[in-house]
Amino acid sequence: MHILVTNDDGVMAPGLLALAKTMREIGEVSIVAPEINWSASGHVKTMHRPLRVREVILQDGTKALSSDGAPSDCVALALLGLLPKPIDLVVSGINPNANIGHDVTYSGTVTAAMEAMITGSLPAIAVSVDGPDNHGAPLDFSAAALVAKQVVKLVLAKGMPKGVFLNVNVPYLPFEQIKGFRVTRQGLRVYRDSLDKRIDPRGRPYYWIGGESPTAIPEEGTDYGAISHGYVSITPLQLDLTAWSAIGDLEQWEWS
Ligand code: MN
Repeated sequence: MHILVTNDDGVMAPGLLALAKTMREIGEVSIVAPEINWSASGHVKTMHRPLRVREVILQDGTKALSSDGAPSDCVALALLGLLPKPIDLVVSGINPNANIGHDVTYSGTVTAAMEAMITGSLPAIAVSVDGPDNHGAPLDFSAAALVAKQVVKLVLAKGMPKGVFLNVNVPYLPFEQIKGFRVTRQGLRVYRDSLDKRIDPRGRPYYWIGGESPTAIPEEGTDYGAISHGYVSITPLQLDLTAWSAIGDLEQWEWS
């Protein structure tokens, strides 16, 4: 079992270290991750410049590869031949913030898992923990790492459904306090973005998309509903974004 571990927070992020550590209890681990933070970078394919890869040593003394590409580029690199041995499964994370609702289209953590499906048709799992905002101390990723191990073991035992990858969100709780697992659908994020216009030292305007952190609606059956009640949320996702419910209606329009 050869597991590729990646993330969107950068190769030196503590969440990646915690994830790689528990994945080593399941199989051989290779790490290919971006050298900088690509959070909220979405699904990227770098086509108009070369990609560089270098070897780095992580905090625990293990080796990893980093690239100047996006998380999805890292997965593509790994699966298209950067690594000599074929990959069996891809795990991305552990992201320090939940990826729920529409976050999945912004998330580098989730889009890395998407890339594993597109490039390699491999089972892929994105793991995020609902870490508190403005947390003074370093986050504790140990519970989410144990959850990731359980999820990967179950996926390996059962087999991932065809065309599906998993978006896993873990409440920020000690492992013993997590109430269990819920299979969920995407919930609704409430974004509170606002545009900040400022003037640079040369007198020209610049813009910053800022505002307060997003909230979410803790509806029953959803990703946020689960984590807000202390459960791990397992959302099966697919790449087919077709709005099937609209096809019949649109077919009735006078197109010609
Ligand atoms: Mn991130």
